[in-house]
Amino acid sequence: MRMAHEGLDWPSLDAIWISHFHMDHCGGIGPLLAGTRHAPQMQGRTKPLKFFGAKGLKDLIGRVIEVNNYRLFDQPFPVEIIEIESLKKFEIVSGIEAVAMSTPHTAESHAIRIRDGQTSLVYSADTGFSESLADFAKGADLFILECTFLKDKPAKKHLELTEAISLIRTASPTRAMLTHFYPDWDAVDFATEIAKHDPPGEVIEARDGFVLNL
Ligand SMILES: [Zn+2]
Ligand SMILES: [Zn+2]
Repeated sequence: MRMAHEGLDWPSLDAIWISHFHMDHCGGIGPLLAGTRHAPQMQGRTKPLKFFGAKGLKDLIGRVIEVNNYRLFDQPFPVEIIEIESLKKFEIVSGIEAVAMSTPHTAESHAIRIRDGQTSLVYSADTGFSESLADFAKGADLFILECTFLKDKPAKKHLELTEAISLIRTASPTRAMLTHFYPDWDAVDFATEIAKHDPPGEVIEARDGFVLNL
């Protein structure tokens, strides 16, 4: 629904990255596939829709289907589920290379690095602090990082602002973007908070509908 709302070409969607199995990161799979079964825009589609994620993704989707015989794989087009391995390159879309790295969040959580020619994007997804994540994101054109908490984080397996800025400093991307804000952030002026940390480059606040060209 969000893709349609933003006017994106959702019927041509090639691939979906599932970073880990928390509900806010995978809960849309069922509703998406339930919708594509009937959407007029999908009835003539023949190219596969590919889901990429860690080991366990096939089981996760399979179990959702089993709950009430949802027949989510009964589509006009093939649905493929590809379980990736940490640090092993794969082709996420034709001609586009990706590699994922395990992160300290859940057993199956991964950050992803995607490269299209000379342009690269890294998305941390949910993660605790990890120096290897900064190395993984070195020199990316865009480094998208979770920044769940502002400060004094109550959970080790997420980031707060000081940590996110530290990772950005080490990774030295062309641009960085923060996302996955918990309510701590609601009353905060983003630009003011960021300025206090004197980041090495541009740090963008992720917002619904925001478009960025790389
Ligand atoms: Zn999570
Ligand atoms: Zn999350």
